[in-house]
Amino acid sequence: MTNKTDPTGDVRLKGISKTYGAFTAVHPLDLTVPQGSFFALLGASGCGKTTTLRMIAGLEEPSSGTVSLGDQDVTALPPYKRPVNTVFQSYALFPHLDIFENVAFGLRRRGVKSVKKQVGEMLDLVQLGEQARKKPHQLSGGQQQRVAVARALINHPKVLLLDEPLGALDLKLRRQMQLELKRIQTEVGITFVHVTHDQEEAMTMADTVAVMNAGRVEQLGAPTDLYENPRTTFVANFLGTSNFIEAEIDSQSGEEIVLKAGGGKLVLPEARCGAPTTTGGKVLVGVRPEKISLTHADDAGEIPEGRNRITGRIADSSFIGVSTQYVVDSPVCSDFEVYAQNIDRDPRLVPGAEVVLHWNPAHTFGLDAAQDAD
Ligand code: ATP
Repeated sequence: MTNKTDPTGDVRLKGISKTYGAFTAVHPLDLTVPQGSFFALLGASGCGKTTTLRMIAGLEEPSSGTVSLGDQDVTALPPYKRPVNTVFQSYALFPHLDIFENVAFGLRRRGVKSVKKQVGEMLDLVQLGEQARKKPHQLSGGQQQRVAVARALINHPKVLLLDEPLGALDLKLRRQMQLELKRIQTEVGITFVHVTHDQEEAMTMADTVAVMNAGRVEQLGAPTDLYENPRTTFVANFLGTSNFIEAEIDSQSGEEIVLKAGGGKLVLPEARCGAPTTTGGKVLVGVRPEKISLTHADDAGEIPEGRNRITGRIADSSFIGVSTQYVVDSPVCSDFEVYAQNIDRDPRLVPGAEVVLHWNPAHTFGLDAAQDAD
């Protein structure tokens, strides 16, 4: 289908914004989505992701800025003249037409006479070749959504926009369709811009995720990068759970920063510090619950050297099969969360037990405490 290096599939937003009266739904935004990537706009309801998508589609007029596809400025073009197509949550299939005719619709409207081969290929792509003569109501929700994708792809758009396309499906079907959409995108090689509020969905499917908050892109990156190196507490908490410790920079040597927290010290790799690294500066130290080990205080001597450690007391524990979730009260952080795998679980680790929490310093990230408080 589309050439993977076709530059017309690049989406470039320059300073686009959207205001409704005095309310700013999208603040001026610069964003480049490279051809062939699977890009997700992720954020809570009302953060401006659908408005951004609709500006790319031409369904919403930007209050400022430009939208370009490759080198072509399409800001003034109506939706039907843009080489993009949109798949909505409501599949919007024609109920009286069968699946074949639903998919053929765009071709017939353009006056294409012989549609059989193209529609057949497209139905094979979405694995519905056997269902061509059924009506939409005879298909499952996931199958109907695949018809909607096939119908949107039949005219070979440069960019496919997906607005919460899996929102109406139950969880199991959602998971299947996530993998299915990813496979289709890899096969057709065109740019997909996908809007979702589901962090797991964005992380599973997208090469690049833009986390939006209150009309702004708070952080943009590969899923692993966003998870490992969040730059704000919002991003850290939107993509999973994180513990935070308020700390102060004590010293810096080479690639490591040493921080004071409570009476103890913590080490943070400089590369993972999003705050200025001046001595005395405040840093919010983050560590994910699954990176932490829990050792009974009586065995503290067995903890290897070089690990970050804090002391505390177990406030609560929930056994959930493969792992146990602990909540630990500590002088540097109340409600510290720890997810520990249940391999050789220590029976002494019950509420009230004194413990040491410890982790590899490489799993620590640092946020700018001052900026995050803004
Ligand atoms: P959701 O997931 O609920 O669709 P979203 O992140 O996609 O949320 P948008 O639909 O982009 O959010 O809306 C962003 C903000 O702009 C919301 O506060 C919404 O109420 C507001 N908004 C959207 N369309 C209009 C409109 N036509 N007039 C006034 N305000 C609007």
